[in-house]
Amino acid sequence: MQTTLVLLKPDTVQRGLIGAIISRFENKGLKISWMKLVQLPKSIVEEHYDFLADKPFFPGILAYMTGSPVVAMAITGKDSIKTVRMLTGATNPTEALPGSIRWDFALSIDANIIHASDSEETAAKELKRFFSEWEIYSYEKISDKVVA
Ligand code: ATP
Ligand code: MG
Repeated sequence: MQTTLVLLKPDTVQRGLIGAIISRFENKGLKISWMKLVQLPKSIVEEHYDFLADKPFFPGILAYMTGSPVVAMAITGKDSIKTVRMLTGATNPTEALPGSIRWDFALSIDANIIHASDSEETAAKELKRFFSEWEIYSYEKISDKVVA
């Protein structure tokens, strides 16, 4: 069992797509372990995308990610890191496969709807970045027994 960090980016919240996207994960059999709507401070976005700091589009990312709230979620399930990335699709929606979240809901790489951790190491770091110790818990869902 793995847990991964997902952010539903500001365009998802503004366009009223939170429910549609969460359904993709629930329909797949993954569990929403923790979830909250938060307005991100610039410092957290700078830390989260520090590997892009020297890119020309970085100021645009900062403005986009701090422009309105995001939904932060921890998603748990078998191979959830890879599974969520597959459901998410390629970074550029024009290259994402039909049926993926980015293909189905996004038009541009600048507003690509969703973030998902890309490895176990990244997921561990990102879960700590967005959830405090007191927000972390585990609970059982009846469906855990039938989907794994
Ligand atoms: P994310 O980390 O948001 O899940 P990703 O892992 O698919 O996306 P990364 O390479 O980590 O892709 O890029 C992080 C974010 O930076 C992308 O989601 C996108 O919004 C933005 N980005 C990446 N490359 C470009 C680009 N060439 N032009 C504009 N924005 C870009
Ligand atoms: Mg990434």
